[in-house]
Formats: sequence, structure tokens, C-alpha cells
Amino acid sequence: MSTPTNLENAAPAAPSDFIRDIVAAHVSEHKYPRVHTRFPPEPNGYLHIGHAKSICLNFGIAREFGGICNLRMDDTNPTKEDIEYVESIQADVNWLIGGWAEDRLGLKQNGQTPEAKMVDGKTDFFVPPVFGTSEEERKHSAVKLEPFYASDYFDQIYEFAVALIQKGKAFVCDMPPDQMDDYRRNGKASPFRDRSVAENLDLFTRMKNDEFPDGTRVLRAKIEVDAANIWMRDPLIYRIKHADHHQTGGKWCIYPMYDFAHCLSDYIEGITHSICTLEFEVHRPLYDWILESLDLPRPLPHQYEFAKLIPSHTIVSKRKLITLVQEKIVTGWDDPRLPTISGIRRRGVTAEALRNFAYNIGVTKYISLTDVAVYEHAIRDDLNKRAQRRLAVLRPIKVVITNYPEGQVEELNAINNPENPISGGRKLPFSRELFIERDDFAEVPPPKFFRLKPGGEVRLKYAYIIKCEEVIKDTAGNLVELRCTADLDSKTGGATSGRKIKGTIHWVSAAHCVDAEVRLYDRLFTEAEPEKDGRDFKSVLNPHSLEVLTAKCEPSLKEASLEERYQFERLAYFALDLDSQPGKLVFNRTITLKDAWAKEAQKS
Ligand code: ATP
Ligand code: MG
Repeated sequence: MSTPTNLENAAPAAPSDFIRDIVAAHVSEHKYPRVHTRFPPEPNGYLHIGHAKSICLNFGIAREFGGICNLRMDDTNPTKEDIEYVESIQADVNWLIGGWAEDRLGLKQNGQTPEAKMVDGKTDFFVPPVFGTSEEERKHSAVKLEPFYASDYFDQIYEFAVALIQKGKAFVCDMPPDQMDDYRRNGKASPFRDRSVAENLDLFTRMKNDEFPDGTRVLRAKIEVDAANIWMRDPLIYRIKHADHHQTGGKWCIYPMYDFAHCLSDYIEGITHSICTLEFEVHRPLYDWILESLDLPRPLPHQYEFAKLIPSHTIVSKRKLITLVQEKIVTGWDDPRLPTISGIRRRGVTAEALRNFAYNIGVTKYISLTDVAVYEHAIRDDLNKRAQRRLAVLRPIKVVITNYPEGQVEELNAINNPENPISGGRKLPFSRELFIERDDFAEVPPPKFFRLKPGGEVRLKYAYIIKCEEVIKDTAGNLVELRCTADLDSKTGGATSGRKIKGTIHWVSAAHCVDAEVRLYDRLFTEAEPEKDGRDFKSVLNPHSLEVLTAKCEPSLKEASLEERYQFERLAYFALDLDSQPGKLVFNRTITLKDAWAKEAQKS
């Protein structure tokens, strides 16, 4: 397998930041044989927008510096993990980086256990195959690829723990968990700290051999009893846990802790730059201590930390996202209101839009709230370029054009996307009975109301100027229909089409339109920081985060597809939902055309 070490096929135009500066310096010093990053999710939940930032950073660096980024399941905690999460993570990563950094995605052959070997006193790192073949080739390839798993290394990690014991740098501790925490907090030595190497080896072997119940013994690194950094106070590195693991089944009853497994997994995979979020900064001395104490050959991987993405008006803690799903506050992990990658995808946001956002928001060491409006702007920007324009009426009111012959139908020309001339046009049927938006008519119009009012005129997009002659109501006074006349010389593109008129509204032909369920999604929380000052996030859920309506759509939307994106003119961007079936259209509102929240904020 050839290794992409050169910069020839590296991607240009990386946004610069402190991590990329470090990587660039290492590349120019030839510090490592190649740049090798990893994205290491724990399969205990679905990936979210914050992970998208980490994915774009890790795969972005691999892409820019001609390296590889491994997808690795950080699966050391079997009781919280599940194969459902493994699968969703894989699907989300593929969706997000497909066609962008797919040729940088390090995967391994199914069932293979990568191993860092020693050759001539140097570590010969395992080099994973890179995903770079086409979808077609992959389908027909005999070699099935899969993500890496920390659990692939349980044998090796176990051996590393034994090596640490042999060096007198780890001991088995029998203190009950509470007492151990207490001792660590107070910087007190465990009474088991000075056990002999032989006794430690014996006990650790017996821990592995299933001789002790959960919680009775742990393996601890022997570092410093009262270190200033509490993570260095003889931290726990192995624990007994009688639980089946989604990858290793019942093979193990002891599992390594994150801190022990992570640096060693990085080492085994030949990772050079182990990039994570700031909460791991305090763990870094331990990361280094473990690798150095094992006297592993250089160069060792190093950890670099950046500030998490914290978008406003949402939550990105896996534990809290699980609450929303389990308590059925949302419909599932892919509810379009969630910031999960699967929710984002279902809502109709494209991978490119999410990437543009996640790739360009910058990487720093300073924790701050990112206004979700920045993300929404990236979505609008993307959809504006690609969305097919369509006419649809969300809250219909009937209009009868009294001077238009009954039974006559005209096919009017409509433009698919003014931003993209090659997208062409389509025909819109026009007839005597139409629907317009309820909001586009006002019986008592406010000042500067340039839509339809009694006696007033408005242009129907791509069609005629109409005048409201009569307002028909039922006995209860409810609006039933509007009777209008059309200026039949005013057709768009027609002889007198140049007649100036202030307002243009959208419409559909009543006889030709199709019904669609539309799901109008909005922000899930009303407050920028749902948990500010310890508040329960459930107290600031947006009661209007979902409104479901039946819209009247122009007939071409019968052919709507999941891949396409739509702008319902003057309303919002929409995408077809997975719930659609032949004869039953369901559209999700991805995003409104304008930021109504900013307007609201300005008003107040
Ligand atoms: P957990 O509490 O389960 O550890 P987590 O969000 O940290 O949740 P991981 O699966 O450990 O989830 O995360 C995988 C990677 O994504 C880690 O490197 C982590 O630092 C990074 N990451 C997690 N949340 C964010 C975020 N909001 N912004 C940027 N990166 C993130
Ligand atoms: Mg984590």
C-alpha cells in the first residue's frame, strides 16, 4: 500500500490557525514520516454539529498536508456503547466528507488488528488503506473496509499495562471507589501503592481472569500522590467491568480507561497529531507520561487542544441529546430540529453547507458561544446557489379571476434558479381559480402594504397583474374567497408587461396544484444559552419549533426528489423528507429566507 506522504495532491487554501501552523512547521522539519490525524468518537450517541467541526479539522489537515485521518471508534466503555451508534457515526462521517476528503479517510480491512511493529529499533507503524477508491470500486472490492476500533488493541493495551507494572510504574489498588476518590482529592497515597511487582502482576492477571467482582480492584498508574494536576495523582488505568462489548463480546472483563487507551491507540496507529477539545488539556501530561514511561520509540504522537464549538439556541451534549430523544421531546436522533448530523441531513442541509460552516469558523483556544445565525447564513448561502425555485402556498386563500375564461389553461414560463442560468425553466399552469397566501391579502392593510387589498393591484409572479374587486365572506364573517380581475395585457414577458406595480406575490392554480405536508422547523430553544445559570433546558424549549401544515404546491413538485433542494419562492428553503411516499409529499423547511430571529432581537 503506498502512503500519501507528499504534498503534491494536498488540498489548497486551508484557513490558517494555531494547529495548522504547528503541523506546517512539523512538515517542514520532516518530523514525521507523514501527517496522520484521527477522529475518535465514542459510539455512545449520534454525532452532532460540534463533531462536524472536529471532523472537518482532522480530515481537513490530512487533506491539506497530504496525510491520512483515521476514523476510530473510541470504544472502551461497553455499557454505554452500541452498534447502532457505530453505524450512524460511519454513515455521518461518510456523508460529511464524501467527495471532499474521502481519499484521506483511513480505514482498516474488516477484522484486521493493526499493530505497531519494531523494525531496526524503530516503530514501523501500521499504515491503513485509504478510502480513495470510487464508490463503484468499493462496492466490488473483495476487501471490506471498516473503521478502527480502540477495542482492536485491547490485547496490546493489556500488554502495555503489564509492561508498566514490570517497570514499577503501575499498581493494583483494592480501595473502594469512594475512598480512592477521597484519597486522590486529598493527595494521600493508597495503602496498596508499594505492592511488589510480582504481587501486582499476579493480581492484574487475576483481574483479567475474572477472579474478582466489579469495583473491587483497579490498576493505577504510579505517578505522584499529590501532583498539582489531579489527573496525575496515581490515576486509574484499568477497571473490572463484567459487560459484553459490542466488538469483543465476552472476551474481556477488564477494560482500559480512556486516558490509557487513547494515547496507546494513537501510538499504535502512528498518529502524529492527536487533536481534541480543551477539556483534555489537563489530561495531556498523562498522555505524555504513559507513552514516555513505556519507553516507546520516538517520534511519539502529541495532543493539541482547541475550543469546542458551542452553537447558540441548541445543546451539543450527547447526554442531553439522549434525554431529548428518550423523553420523546423530539421524534428521534434524526429529528430535523436536533443539531445531530443525521438531523441536519434530514432537515435538508447539504454536506457542503455544513462543511463550509464547520471548516471556516476558525480554530482557537478560547471558548465562546457561536451565534447559530452564522450557521444559518452558511445554509442560506449554499441553498441560494443550488435550490430550484418553486411556487407553493402554505396558508391558502382562494382567488377567482372573474374575467378569465372558465376551463382555459395557460402554460406560463418560470425560471428554475436565477442564480444558476443553466438550471433552465419550467411551465406553470394558470387558470381562473388560484390560491394565494392568506398573508398576502389584507382587508385593512397596514401602511406600506404592497400586496393585495380591496381595490388594490398586485402582480402574480410570472403571470398577470390582478385587482381585488370583491371580498367574499361566509355568514360568520370568515374570508372565503377573493374575486379579482386580471389585466390581461400585463402578462410577464407580454406587450405591456413593463407596467410598474409595487408588489409581486406567489400563487398556484387551484385545479392543478398538489397537496403536500410541510413541516416548518425552527430553532429548538428560545434562548441563546439554554442552560445559562444552571437553568433546566426543558424550560426554554421553543413551543413553535415545529408547525405542520398542508400546502398547495405547483404541479412540478410531484416529481420532487430527495437529492434536490427547493426554494418555495418568498417563503423558505425546503427539502423532501424521508417520510414522503408516492402520492404523499412531505417537505421539511430547512431554513427561512430571512433571519426572523435577528429582526425580533432588533425590535426588542
Ligand atoms: P462524551 O461526553 O461522550 O465524551 P463528546 O462530545 O466528547 O462526548 P466524543 O465522541 O468523545 O464525544 O467526541 C469525539 C471527538 O469530537 C473528540 O475529539 C471531541 O473532542 C470532539 N468534539 C466533541 N464535541 C465537540 C464540539 N462541540 N466541538 C468540537 N469538537 C468536539
Ligand atoms: Mg469525549
